[in-house]
Amino acid sequence: MKEGKFIVVSAPSGSGKTTLVKALLSENLDLSFSISATSRKPRIDEVDNVDYHFLSTIEFKKHIEKGAFIEYEEVYPNKFYGTLKTEVERKWRSGKHIIFDIDVIGALNIKKKYPNQTLSIFINTPSIDVLEERLRSRGNDSESGIQERIQKANEEIKFSEKFDKSIINDDLEKSKKQIIKVVKEFIDS
Ligand code: ADP
Ligand code: 5GP
Repeated sequence: MKEGKFIVVSAPSGSGKTTLVKALLSENLDLSFSISATSRKPRIDEVDNVDYHFLSTIEFKKHIEKGAFIEYEEVYPNKFYGTLKTEVERKWRSGKHIIFDIDVIGALNIKKKYPNQTLSIFINTPSIDVLEERLRSRGNDSESGIQERIQKANEEIKFSEKFDKSIINDDLEKSKKQIIKVVKEFIDS
């Protein structure tokens, strides 16, 4: 059986990463989404063990102590996110390619650990103003949450050059085509 590959997608929150990852998953590419664990609370439309494995902060820290994560980050103050070893091993064994939606540091860590089998993709908006507009129109975050995400975005953008591919998500249909093309090429390579 051919080995599965890793596709890590990273972007400032609000750039359209989830939308583009969903577009990828709807293609027939044998991709399986890596469900991360997080200590943040579920959003209204999120389902436990589908969007994330939602854990309490205490549970999350216990998993850290046990060495259960391939990588984890405190992405926002006191909000932990991480990739569980069990999650990746299970999917890997089923022969699928795994797609990760994780922050820039986590993405670059996976690329460093598995350089040849990983494609890292950075998604960005045309400007910070557009990002702010999308965060507001998505309507998930409080004003302080939006400010936290914009501040973080300014830091994340600095890492974009370290990624294998970069996509400016302006026209959504164009971006979908672009991401599907680069992922197909990588899987077939
Ligand atoms: P992320 O996963 O990066 O936080 P989302 O996929 O949730 O971002 O997208 C943030 C918001 O922007 C959503 O409301 C989504 O529908 C919208 N969006 C995504 N891509 C575009 C685009 N190219 N143009 C306009 N709006 C977009
Ligand atoms: P959100 O709260 O918007 O779902 O995610 C916030 C940030 O955490 C996003 O940048 C997302 O990609 C990142 N994230 C999600 N899961 C993981 C993970 O397993 N590890 C790391 N390092 N970051 C993650």
